[in-house]
Amino acid sequence: MPRVFLGLGSNLGERKNELDFAVCRLRQHPGIELIQVAPYLETDPVGYLEQGKFINTVVEIRTILDPYTLLWVLQTIEEEAGRIRTIRWGPRTLDIDILLYDDWVMDEPNLTIPHPRMKEREFVLLPLTEIGPDVPVPPDNLTIRELLNNYRQSR
Ligand code: ATP
Ligand code: CA
Ligand code: CA
Repeated sequence: MPRVFLGLGSNLGERKNELDFAVCRLRQHPGIELIQVAPYLETDPVGYLEQGKFINTVVEIRTILDPYTLLWVLQTIEEEAGRIRTIRWGPRTLDIDILLYDDWVMDEPNLTIPHPRMKEREFVLLPLTEIGPDVPVPPDNLTIRELLNNYRQSR
């Protein structure tokens, strides 16, 4: 089964509960096997700065769902958590992104894999380092650990 990593974030409501809810929903889904959950991390917002801090985590799953079906399942969980889409990168009760889907590379209008901004996001790379430091990120297959080092050297 494909090895998949998801990025989770919340900065509205009971943020920790929102992430717990998402993890619980993923665990319950018949097409998803939950493998690992990284420690939750509190982070400052990026992109749109006039909003509260986030709590982020990354989870590893195995799934029989193809990437589009998985995205649809994740968006359904976001809606269950009461997410209302307002401004891009704005506040949200729950955000779930597909970071990696095995060694897949795809760039479609509604789905880009690996997630196009993950290499510049410490709130993704740090939790990923906790649960998958040696996982290669296509297409150049640098590991998560290498990407975090690159990120730190670039700052
Ligand atoms: P960012 O993508 O920079 O983290 P965001 O998570 O706030 O921003 P959303 O409003 O949640 O953005 O999603 C916008 C659209 O991004 C979704 O409707 C989805 O079709 C698309 N998308 C493209 N690639 C991915 C991916 N790898 N995971 C999740 N959504 C994706
Ligand atoms: Ca996101
Ligand atoms: Ca998203």
